[in-house]
Amino acid sequence: MTTLTAQPPAPLLEHLARRAHPCETELFLAQPLSSLLAQHAVELARARHEHFGRRVLLFAPLYVANACMNDCSYCGFRRSLRVRRQRLGPGAVLREAKLLAERGHRSLDLVAGEVPRDVFIDSVARVVEAILRRTAIERIHLNLGVLSDAQFRRLRDAGAVGYHLYQETYDAETYARVHVAGPKSAMEPRLEAIARAHAAGFERIGLGILLGLAPLAPELARLVAHAEWLAEQAPDVRLGFSLPRIQRVDDSCGFQTPAPVDDETFLRALLFLRLKFPRAELTVTTRERAELRDRSLALGVTKLSAGVSTAPGGYGQSDDATPQFSIHDERSFAEVAQAVRASGLEPVAS
Ligand code: SF4
Repeated sequence: MTTLTAQPPAPLLEHLARRAHPCETELFLAQPLSSLLAQHAVELARARHEHFGRRVLLFAPLYVANACMNDCSYCGFRRSLRVRRQRLGPGAVLREAKLLAERGHRSLDLVAGEVPRDVFIDSVARVVEAILRRTAIERIHLNLGVLSDAQFRRLRDAGAVGYHLYQETYDAETYARVHVAGPKSAMEPRLEAIARAHAAGFERIGLGILLGLAPLAPELARLVAHAEWLAEQAPDVRLGFSLPRIQRVDDSCGFQTPAPVDDETFLRALLFLRLKFPRAELTVTTRERAELRDRSLALGVTKLSAGVSTAPGGYGQSDDATPQFSIHDERSFAEVAQAVRASGLEPVAS
């Protein structure tokens, strides 16, 4: 693993804005998908063949807790929302992981609201160790927000291999408006934390934006600039991307999506990332409908969630926990695997 030698340019946001090419993304996103697929068919086929073969990784998120110190106005876990807060104990997390393993999963994303306290991070590290030691799960990625270097190292030492930290938006005004309170309301620490996660040992790094918060072309251009910046400093990093679209979770917040992204534009954005980063893992979650997820496989998507719950305890008995967002593809692991095979690809669990 490469150790970062340079400090991130400060402020990093201005640096990314300078090197981003929004005209390029604008031009790409304006073209019909069919025409883009025809133009880039050879590159697309080569990217899959050289870097992934026919494999498509299936995984499940495992929600550990829904308490959060932040108040993101689009999220069902935000701290101002009056919902029952749940934090699964080690036994309950292990039961959930065993259930997922019985259903065929070997790869999990452990997810929680952001609570960057040592006691919580240490408890997550211990469940990572327990899952890897006592279940058939082989690979764990984490989605826990901005942490200290020591906290990143604790989790990496526990055996987790990947860290996802989505910027949500690179538009400073939008960022400030929707991240109302909590540590996440500071934009710059989130931008630079992903390099610290890699320096702490996470070789697989997930980046992303929340589609719908701000106009897509400049957002996508800055996401590309962010990933290129990271890859320059850490050439061995294994990048991954996800482009979740905002999903309404409750009616109480009245959140209106400022810049909605339609299905075709969503697919064009995925294709843009695939062509820019042929080796990167591209994920589409169950925020999207089954039909759209199946279509996305032809654009080079390599990772799909399957048989998903987005509530803590959602795989076992708990049926009253609040989910983080609504699911639009309720197919089981076996059903998603079957759909992948029907696309001429090979579902893999690890
Ligand atoms: S998006 Fe993440 S940080 Fe924001 S409220 Fe939801 S769980 Fe917390």
